[in-house]
Amino acid sequence: MSIIQNLKNNVRSRSIHVSFVNVGSCNGCDIEILACLAPRYDIEQYGIYVHNNPREADVLLITGAFVEQWDDKLLNLWNKIPDPKVAVTIGNCPVSGCVFNRRGSYVNPPVSKHIPVAAEIPGCPPRPTEIISTILSVAPLIFKDYEEMDKK
Ligand code: SF4
Repeated sequence: MSIIQNLKNNVRSRSIHVSFVNVGSCNGCDIEILACLAPRYDIEQYGIYVHNNPREADVLLITGAFVEQWDDKLLNLWNKIPDPKVAVTIGNCPVSGCVFNRRGSYVNPPVSKHIPVAAEIPGCPPRPTEIISTILSVAPLIFKDYEEMDKK
């Protein structure tokens, strides 16, 4: 493993980098994710940082009922995220399609059919506290893999 990669792994193993994608939501869940960034919940105090580059992400948050336009795109995006990584779905939509799953609609839930999902946060929408606690609960999955990568 290169020095740069070692450094990067050390830094990343002490913080959690999160990207998020909307695969067909009403934006209700997306607003709750944004609320996590605001001073009231201040997600960064837990060492969780949100940005848009999947190549730097550890955790992918997914909102929405999975509309057909995402058929190939979500897997492509998932493949861009380096290991170790986990996906977490936000709200009822990625699990059941929620209010969008009706006869004649073009949604294809659950998201877990398209990429591996480590945790699902139910709710329409879930609370910011539930989102933050779930991200923290999946962190050991990432850190465990880092420890195993360090041993190689
Ligand atoms: S779960 Fe509810 S709030 Fe979240 S995207 Fe679906 S309909 Fe909107």
